[in-house]
Amino acid sequence: METRNEDIPIIGSGTIGGYTGYLLEKEGFNVTLYEDHEKIGEPCHCTGIITKSFLDMVHLKKGLLLNTLSRVKVFGPDGNSAELKTEDIVVDRIGLDEFFNELAVKEGAVLKTGHKMVSCDPLHKTATIQHKDTARLLSYSRLIGADGPNSRLFPLLNPSIRRKPWIGAQAVIRGKFDKGMYETYLNNDYCKGFFAWVVPESEESAIAGLAVSERPSFQFERFMKKRFGEKFKDKVMSYRGGLIPMHYPKARCEKDGMFLVGDAGGHVKATTGGGIIPGMKAAQALAESFKTGKRYDTLWRKATGRNLWAHLKIRETLDKFSDHDYNYLIELMNKKRPANLIAHSDREYPGAFALKMLLAEPRMLSFLKHVF
Ligand SMILES: Cc1cc2nc3c(=O)[nH]c(=O)nc-3n(C[C@H](O)[C@H](O)[C@H](O)COP(=O)(O)OP(=O)(O)OC[C@H]3O[C@@H](n4cnc5c(N)ncnc54)[C@H](O)[C@@H]3O)c2cc1C
Repeated sequence: METRNEDIPIIGSGTIGGYTGYLLEKEGFNVTLYEDHEKIGEPCHCTGIITKSFLDMVHLKKGLLLNTLSRVKVFGPDGNSAELKTEDIVVDRIGLDEFFNELAVKEGAVLKTGHKMVSCDPLHKTATIQHKDTARLLSYSRLIGADGPNSRLFPLLNPSIRRKPWIGAQAVIRGKFDKGMYETYLNNDYCKGFFAWVVPESEESAIAGLAVSERPSFQFERFMKKRFGEKFKDKVMSYRGGLIPMHYPKARCEKDGMFLVGDAGGHVKATTGGGIIPGMKAAQALAESFKTGKRYDTLWRKATGRNLWAHLKIRETLDKFSDHDYNYLIELMNKKRPANLIAHSDREYPGAFALKMLLAEPRMLSFLKHVF
């Protein structure tokens, strides 16, 4: 497969667009990144919590690692909690997007900020790019959509899938926090279908919020008042929000010279909304596909598809949990063996984890009623 000197436009230069541009430049392609916003990484919508295995994938630039987390406290609807060991990090999210884009540009990519793809014509293989008052027709032989959860390209590849994203609402808030521990809240009251979180960046600040399918502002305010008090707004430094796409196992991410990667392709864990690592794995699969001519849809499924499917199944199971089930889950998490297992498992591989958990704590079988 010829890889030298082919021009590859990438639409969207967020985390995964930047990383994909970097990988493809390394393979000898001529990448141009088209980014709607003027500033890379802004507006920021993400929390920035990632499993520590991220550090095996990237040699992170100094200053981007904000915090290391070794414990998580999971709260059930009745207020009881289980404290578990974990290995996570918190990264500077704007900085991470800038870093990936810097890497791409250093390898030779051209970055065009303030350039928005306003339409795409797959039949004639053209896309219209708007920059200020000027629209330009771009011809492509291969086009990459890294244009996030609201991707304009996704429906062209998957006309029969109607996307239903979660809506995340969060704030960076001042306070006193246990720097090594984050909090998650599971209940059907204010965060039905997802969860709420408090993730410390330092001892003095944390990112707190939730994701839901409906009424995000209303539920966010309820959670924040419960956790930080009626006057929580006085302590808020900034607000963040955005869409978290669902993972669609049958979605096509390759068709007629168009390729989807990252949130645009639904490469996101349905349990946590984490999309950085799965998106990077899909980007690696895309680079391999361009290099070898192997099918991208086969490669990304092999790299991350099975795990994303397992996350989706766990999410579908959790969606059926009553508050009573959540309370019971917290009770079981307080048992020694499940707690140990959680401590030594990687969230990236949920299938193996669920199986080990069932073996360690057979009472987990009571939740099987929600699986079938
Ligand atoms: C509230 C919230 C919290 C999250 N927390 C975490 C977390 O803690 N850990 C984690 O791993 N993941 C988290 N995520 C998910 C994570 O942010 C995404 O998976 C990740 O940013 C995906 O990167 P991306 O490049 O695919 O998409 P994006 O980061 O959304 O980037 C897409 C880019 O495309 C640009 N774009 C869009 N349309 C066009 C167009 N037509 N033309 C040109 N440019 C365009 C956008 O401006 C944007 O810059 C969270 C998401 C949300 C909403």
